[in-house]
Amino acid sequence: MNLKMSAVVVVHGGAWAIPDDLAKASVDGVKVASCEGFSVLRRGGSALDAVEAAVRALEENTVFNAGHGAVLNADGEVELDAMIMDGRTLASGAVSSVKNIANPVSLARAVMEKTTHIMLSSRGANLFAESIGMATVPTDTLVTEYERKEWEKHNNYLTGVMQDFNSQWTHDTVGAVSVDSAGNVACATSTGGIRNKMVGRVGDSPIIGSGGYADNFSGAVSCTGHGESILKVTLARLILSHIEQGKSVAVSSQLSLQYMGERVRGAGGAIVVSPSGQWAATFTTERMAWAAVDHDVLWYGLDPNERSKEQLSQYI
Ligand code: ASP
Repeated sequence: MNLKMSAVVVVHGGAWAIPDDLAKASVDGVKVASCEGFSVLRRGGSALDAVEAAVRALEENTVFNAGHGAVLNADGEVELDAMIMDGRTLASGAVSSVKNIANPVSLARAVMEKTTHIMLSSRGANLFAESIGMATVPTDTLVTEYERKEWEKHNNYLTGVMQDFNSQWTHDTVGAVSVDSAGNVACATSTGGIRNKMVGRVGDSPIIGSGGYADNFSGAVSCTGHGESILKVTLARLILSHIEQGKSVAVSSQLSLQYMGERVRGAGGAIVVSPSGQWAATFTTERMAWAAVDHDVLWYGLDPNERSKEQLSQYI
């Protein structure tokens, strides 16, 4: 299928101080996921299908803190959050604090499409998953050896937060945004949250307007970073409100992240796409693995101002 100019997929693998030993795997993972999303568009899928496919690929990859590879809470358990949103209708679906589910983004999509609600949490979300026959996995299979060891090293939430965003201790949230050839936008975000979080803590990732937002009138955003800070400034909507006022996707992201830093001292990152196919990947942490497919070119980066590119034909 020949796509019109505007079809784009952008993904991120979390904004934080990614250590060198995870750098290559993180960049490889986002490249593969963005290609996965783009091949869905090529086959005629919608932006919504593309973001779900891209995030599923990231959830399957243990290098990222989502699905397989999730961080553990204070009780040493997995509690996953995810959201998805369709810019055509503003339909959205989200789940929080779910266990036993390898692809929370698909459960979020099911909440959007099969219920009259927007968000289901913990037991209710798991019961819903069961009622629609979604496959469950033993929660232990989502936990990596690496995470078990890291969790044992850090024993309180505050340590987790300080170290996650200011130094080098954990791996992070994932997300995707896309615009398809019809100009429809969508976003999806999925996470295990912050290591050592309190049981029941819900961050920004599943909250519409904070961890993500998609509206055909302005664009789609997926955020990552310190959840409590992102919630305070409703980061995804903040970025889109700048776009609505006529600013570019890059300037809107920079201004909003800068505001979050100044107003609540929070660091993070965001990926954005506009209905016309402009896109940006911006962060105020040390690093963020991101990749974008646009016009048969695969763009990617990890360090500030890094923008590498390869021909997509090497991958698809
Ligand atoms: N925003 C996520 C949370 O606070 C974490 C992250 O992006 O790394 O749950």
